[in-house]
Amino acid sequence: MYNEFKNKKITVMGLGLFGGGVGIAQFLARQGACVTVTDLRSATELSPSIKQLEGLPISYKLGGHHEEDFINADLVIVNPAVPKDSKFIQIARNNNVATDTEINIFFKLCPAPIIGITGSNGKSTTTTFTGEILQQTQRRTWVGGNIGKSLLTHLEEIKSHEIVVLELSSFQLKELYNIKRSPHISVLTNISPNHLDRHPNIEDYIQAKKSIILHQKQDDYTILNYDDHELRKWEKECKGRVLWYSAKHTLADGAFIKGNDIIISVNGLNTAIPCVSGIKIPGIHNIQNILAASCAAYLAGAREQHIAKAVTTFAGLEHRLEFVREVNGVRYYDDSKATTPESAIAAVTAFQSPVILIAGGYDKGSDFEEFAEVCARNVKAIVLIGKTAKKIKELILKTKGTKETPSILTPETFREAFQQANTMTKAGDVVLLSPACASYDMFLNYEERGRQFKDMVHVL
Ligand code: ADP
Repeated sequence: MYNEFKNKKITVMGLGLFGGGVGIAQFLARQGACVTVTDLRSATELSPSIKQLEGLPISYKLGGHHEEDFINADLVIVNPAVPKDSKFIQIARNNNVATDTEINIFFKLCPAPIIGITGSNGKSTTTTFTGEILQQTQRRTWVGGNIGKSLLTHLEEIKSHEIVVLELSSFQLKELYNIKRSPHISVLTNISPNHLDRHPNIEDYIQAKKSIILHQKQDDYTILNYDDHELRKWEKECKGRVLWYSAKHTLADGAFIKGNDIIISVNGLNTAIPCVSGIKIPGIHNIQNILAASCAAYLAGAREQHIAKAVTTFAGLEHRLEFVREVNGVRYYDDSKATTPESAIAAVTAFQSPVILIAGGYDKGSDFEEFAEVCARNVKAIVLIGKTAKKIKELILKTKGTKETPSILTPETFREAFQQANTMTKAGDVVLLSPACASYDMFLNYEERGRQFKDMVHVL
């Protein structure tokens, strides 16, 4: 038990559906705190989360917040999705009520070393894969964080000699800075503008990501993507030992590819792991994810056989360039989680075959210029849906000039988009859902978008 929470009045602001709110509410209720959960959404919308809290002594204030829960509390736990300028956070501050977050509490109480993974794209894949490698070893491994699982509920089982792998979002990291903590091993996948609808500018976003290294110590490690323009500049700010990884270059310290080998070079010692031909997940970006994860897992005790086994068995995550089915020689891929232009670029360039792309969606302020150029060069046809369809179409038209391909279609519905994509296929083609945009204008979330796509593929 952690006595500091016993009998304390604690407001959990933002239950959400991603696991963090449920984790902290469960944890606090079990520690004997008097927990109030409040959220702008209704009980119906939050029912999957509320179900997980059944039987615990928790009061609910849903469908809006109430000032008294921010005035008469000992502590307010703020969900990372809550905007920083929320008037209710201000009310708590004006009343000297402390605020904290689920991930900060985990960092303060976790007895085991933490591998923290962040970046604009590839966090979940790299986090999961790091966990898969470490599961092969004797060291008990806990995987969670922004990936959708709070580890707070397991805190009392985690031992100091075990290892924790956490996916961390920019919003979680921004708050982590306030408690002056960073992971023992920090992994950065890449940095590109993202969430600019919620960060005031790109500098704020980069600074939030930097929290993952800023409070590291000399005996900590930072693993950086050498192929990423922004991350190349970070070395001078790192407090710990820096290791690099690259899908393109040979490096002195870190992980890279040589023929069929993954090479991990640490302290002048090169470890060669012959397994590249066994990689199941497509694209250079996935090679980068594999290198980052292998390097982190190696530092945490994994050896050649553990990495080789994981590399040759890992089939990737659902909705991330997931192979769905082949019909009449046409392969269908669900990459619904590609909610940024960079992740969709990674998908489009991962195939040698002609690609018919379904893209577009909610506008979170991304810059589609490079995406449009890559589409103009690489895809056979593009079917655009949602709020960003017009914007992307104009950019592609500007780039492709008088070239015939790609054909550009802008139907009204997702179903029509799928049908139109199918009318253009020939054996050997790939139909790829990789929207480059979030889904909120037409779907509940990216999972629903991916599921609808897969359902349509399965009834072909
Ligand atoms: P995140 O957790 O950062 O959103 P995911 O692993 O869930 O990352 O992948 C999200 C999307 O980004 C998927 O479309 C995936 O194919 C793509 N992706 C994965 N790794 C990378 C990478 N290193 N660079 C660019 N795109 C990537």
